[in-house]
Amino acid sequence: MMQVARKKARCKVLGPGERAVIWFHGCSRRCPGCIAETMNAAAQYETVSPEQLADWVLTTARRGSKGIGGITLSGGDPFFQPANELAEFLNRVKEDSTLSVLCYTGYTLEELQADVERSTVLPYIDVLVDGQYVQELDDGQRWRGSGNQRFHFLTERYRSESDAWYAAKERQVEIELDLNGKLFLSGVPSKDFIAKLAAELHRRDVDVDFS
Ligand code: SF4
Repeated sequence: MMQVARKKARCKVLGPGERAVIWFHGCSRRCPGCIAETMNAAAQYETVSPEQLADWVLTTARRGSKGIGGITLSGGDPFFQPANELAEFLNRVKEDSTLSVLCYTGYTLEELQADVERSTVLPYIDVLVDGQYVQELDDGQRWRGSGNQRFHFLTERYRSESDAWYAAKERQVEIELDLNGKLFLSGVPSKDFIAKLAAELHRRDVDVDFS
C-alpha cells in the first residue's frame, strides 16, 4: 500500500496546465530549506492501493466541463513508495487516459535507472525533475527548487518545450486555508517566502499552521 499525505484535484502551479497533484508521504533526506518538511514529518497520511489512487485520478480527470491535462507526483519523495505499486498506479492511469505525468524526486535519474525496481516506474513518466533541493543553488526558476535539479523529458510529450521550461523564471504558489486555520501551500515558492509569509501573518496576529 502507498502512503499519501495530501491530494489536490486541480492545481495550476506545478507543471503545465491544470493538473491533479499527489503529495506522497515520506522522505528521509532532510535537505535544509525543504518546503515539504512538515509533510515529511507528518504522522497523518492515507494508505491507498494503486487501484484506489488511479480511480481517484481518473474520476478527478473526468469531473467538470474542463478536464485536467495531467498529474504531478510530489512529496515527500514518490520513489520512497513501493516501486511496483507506483508503477501499477501509473500504468492504470496511462491505460485509461491521456494524462501526462510529471514527477519530482530527490533521486537522480541515473540512480533510478541503476535501481532494478525503481527503474520500472520511469516508462510511465513524461517529465522527471530530479535531485535534492540545495538552498544555495535556488535560482528562482519555475517548477524546480534549485539549479542542480534537471528536467528530464523522458517522452516526446513536452520535449519540444524544453527550452521554455528552463527559461521560465516566475515562481507561483496557490494557498488554501481550511476552517481549522491550517494553511496549505502548493507550488515552488521563492526562497524565504514561507518565512516572510509566516512573519507577516504573525505580525497581524493571524495564527496558522503550514503544510
Ligand atoms: S529530497 Fe526533496 S522532499 Fe526529500 S528532504 Fe530533500 S527537498 Fe525535501
